Amino acid sequence: HHAQVNGHINISDISYTYYGSDEPVLKNVSVDLKKGEKLALLGRTGCGKSTLLQLLTRNWDPQQGSISIDGIALPSWREESLRKAITVVSQRVDVFNGSLRENLVLAKPEGSDDEFRDVLEKVGLVSLLEGKGLDAWLGEGGRQISGGERRRIGIARALLHDAPILLMDEPTEGLDRRTEQQIISLLIEHAKDKTVLFITHRLVGLDQMDQICLMDEGEIIERGKHDEL
Ligand code: ATP
Ligand code: MG
Repeated sequence: HHAQVNGHINISDISYTYYGSDEPVLKNVSVDLKKGEKLALLGRTGCGKSTLLQLLTRNWDPQQGSISIDGIALPSWREESLRKAITVVSQRVDVFNGSLRENLVLAKPEGSDDEFRDVLEKVGLVSLLEGKGLDAWLGEGGRQISGGERRRIGIARALLHDAPILLMDEPTEGLDRRTEQQIISLLIEHAKDKTVLFITHRLVGLDQMDQICLMDEGEIIERGKHDEL
């Protein structure tokens, strides 16, 4: 059994330099997000947004500063507990060769076929169910899915994985405006009580965030509320 995770994220003065580079891509970044708080992170391409997300999921460790969740430093977290605490919609959604069901079940091992079909309907992917239903094969030797469908699979997984922290990296990139509105509404509704870091280039959903941070060249150069910026 796992202790309940609240989802308080503290990022304290971190800097990060990629191996083989001499220029840090993150410089003295600090962010504090209490349980249930929602932050949008904006900034030009290449400014370091996705790198910050990689550090939050402990894919890499910062050379300076520290990150903690519920007051426990990331290096002390057990891998399994961390995966249960955080849901990630990454900028590049990974769809693997396997059935539609297999591509969803990793987000919710105890999920039922009914739940999977429901969530596919929510994200506008019922067309994938035509024919073989959840047994439809995706990827090599199966159905080649479009970029938009790939994104929606990422969203479907996020809706299935009920963790206290939700990290989203441009979840609607490449989707049309109407779809974007719908998907962001779904995600925000799903994340009502969750702590959220929302990386975006766009304006949709910003009014629902508690804080907005603007990053430039690895530094947070501005922060405030939606109506202040
Ligand atoms: P975008 O809005 O285009 O997604 P971003 O703000 O997410 O950009 P990052 O992906 O964090 O930017 O990249 C920040 C900088 O780090 C860029 O200059 C990028 O080229 C560099 N970078 C990213 N990943 C790596 C890597 N694995 N190795 C070396 N450099 C990297
Ligand atoms: Mg990025």
